[in-house]
Amino acid sequence: ATPMSIMTATGRGAQAGVLIKNAEALERFAKVDTLIVDKTGTLTVGKPKLVAVLPESGDDEDEVLRLAASLERGSEHPLAEAIVTGAEERGISLAKAEEFEAVTGKGVKGVVDGKPVALGNAKLLADGGVDGGGLSESANARRDEGETVMFVIVGSEIAGLVSVADPVKETTPAALKALHEQGFRIVMATGDNARTAKAVAARLGIDEIRADVLPEDKARIIEEMQAEGRKVAMAGDGVNDAPALAQADVGIAMGTGADVAIESAGFTLVKGDLSGIVRARRLARATMRNIK
Ligand code: ADP
Ligand code: MG
Repeated sequence: ATPMSIMTATGRGAQAGVLIKNAEALERFAKVDTLIVDKTGTLTVGKPKLVAVLPESGDDEDEVLRLAASLERGSEHPLAEAIVTGAEERGISLAKAEEFEAVTGKGVKGVVDGKPVALGNAKLLADGGVDGGGLSESANARRDEGETVMFVIVGSEIAGLVSVADPVKETTPAALKALHEQGFRIVMATGDNARTAKAVAARLGIDEIRADVLPEDKARIIEEMQAEGRKVAMAGDGVNDAPALAQADVGIAMGTGADVAIESAGFTLVKGDLSGIVRARRLARATMRNIK
């Protein structure tokens, strides 16, 4: 590539769907060796769809979904949207939840029809001392397909599970292949569980998986890698990703994601297409050759 100025690089980036905040971000990106990518909304489309409702024996499928969706009306999480939409599509009318509470990285809680209801992952089950019972096996089989499983707890008993699927973006496999060829070590960081993360990562040739991470852990993981001397870029889309994007040597936000993520980032991928990172790397290297 020919040497180019920052202004040219910024202009070319914009044409290719990468907004570059400043010269420093571009300069730092030329030296990055490790790329951390969030799963949901970054590698995947980020619009999960409800694919299964499995009641614990004796419970009714639609009732399990009604309780889950009634609770999720209070949440803005993409998983919540999948569950509410799934219930609406089945024509289930929802109740009004009271005492709604989001449990970061774990799920949601509240009171529906006077009953305490909780919905979330295995950590939420463990917190409540609730056993997955006969559903644990089905949960694992679904995770091995890359689905995200959430348990529905009523009182202190498991009532069922709901499972959602979020397909990988069409542009992701080719982008990751090119990023590998550019020499990046690619690490997936996700709040989702290890089985689901592994199933998704296996298809994409991810080098390392950090699963079950709480939002605040993402920034800490980056800090640790930086302490080992790595130069780290982080790509993410969520409100939860903002601290990690700020901690990274270069934060890369999905233009389709949360505003606070975009504000914390050095690059924004306008359409959330990861191949923008491939382009940004070429621009960064070409620009640095000119400056030196
Ligand atoms: P990420 O965006 O990296 O997947 P989150 O921290 O947003 O991570 O979520 C982590 C996990 O917590 C989810 O995979 C899910 O199991 C659970 N969770 C979070 N929010 C909700 C919610 N509104 N309803 C059900 N489960 C949730
Ligand atoms: Mg995300």
